[in-house]
Amino acid sequence: AKAAGRGKHCFYEPSMHSEAADRQLLENDLRQALDRGEMWVAFQPIVRVASEEISGFECLVRWNHQTRGPISPDKFIPLAEECGMIGRIGEFVLQAAIAEAAGWPDNVRIAVNLSPIQFNDPNIVDAVAALLAEHDFEPARLELEITEGVFLADSDATDGTFARLKSLGVRLALDDFGTGYSSLGYLKKAPFDKIKIDQSFVRGAASTTKRNGAIIRAIVSLAESLDMDTTAEGVETHDDLYLIRELGVSQVQGYIFGKPMKAEEARELANSSRVE
Ligand code: C2E
Ligand code: CA
Ligand code: CA
Ligand code: CA
Repeated sequence: AKAAGRGKHCFYEPSMHSEAADRQLLENDLRQALDRGEMWVAFQPIVRVASEEISGFECLVRWNHQTRGPISPDKFIPLAEECGMIGRIGEFVLQAAIAEAAGWPDNVRIAVNLSPIQFNDPNIVDAVAALLAEHDFEPARLELEITEGVFLADSDATDGTFARLKSLGVRLALDDFGTGYSSLGYLKKAPFDKIKIDQSFVRGAASTTKRNGAIIRAIVSLAESLDMDTTAEGVETHDDLYLIRELGVSQVQGYIFGKPMKAEEARELANSSRVE
């Protein structure tokens, strides 16, 4: 059947067929990745701009494929969302991140990404609550990063989930701000503690046009008037850091302070930030 199929499809782009086949192979491997121990969680420092102290770490999933090596989450997270695997992967990340950070100083936060599909799972609040209880983890040390994608679903259920997560005491961050649909309405609706300014406004902001700086300034003033923190993502250079500081952004995350790193390295950094 395969050979016939190949003959039939010879008028299409040859890459189309192999892309679909490649995707299927990757999906099969993705289904086994957790059981094979191929996934792990990396931690990237988030630093307070004013003091340059570590405020916390974003927890980012990694997949080390047995033959292909590391595969980017930009590639496998969308696949996991489409093939129904994101729930298990997300639960793995939450569990691994909380278990690791439970041993860190309690002034160091962790931020974990929640896919819209996970967020809209009716069991999400109970799952988070159970993990916090199991590891005796202070809820305010956990920040959940959510994108505007969550608002595409049923709004009553979404509102309910926001309220229940807030009453658990966890923090909520609106991720990739500025890249989505009509962000301003969502800011009014949902109880976010933080806005993460997308890298596309941040990277090279100091050297390119004045527009990115103007946008960042506007986001900061909006966040301040709504009593929210801001984190600028993707800060790589001293020039950008300087601009970010001038514009009043409260925290930065970027290669300038550290790439996503293994737990052991993050633990060491977290411990060095201990306030005695
Ligand atoms: P994100 O949530 O916006 O995460 C930030 C991404 O920017 C990370 O890429 C991080 O490594 C990268 N980054 C941070 N600072 C810099 C910088 O200075 N320069 C550059 N060039 N890049 C920087 P990563 O780890 O490849 O993750 C990509 C995306 O995959 C994430 O974007 C997030 O949307 C998704 N993702 C990663 N881990 C998870 C997870 O556990 N669950 C879910 N649902 N999504 C995840
Ligand atoms: Ca994020
Ligand atoms: Ca982001
Ligand atoms: Ca992103």
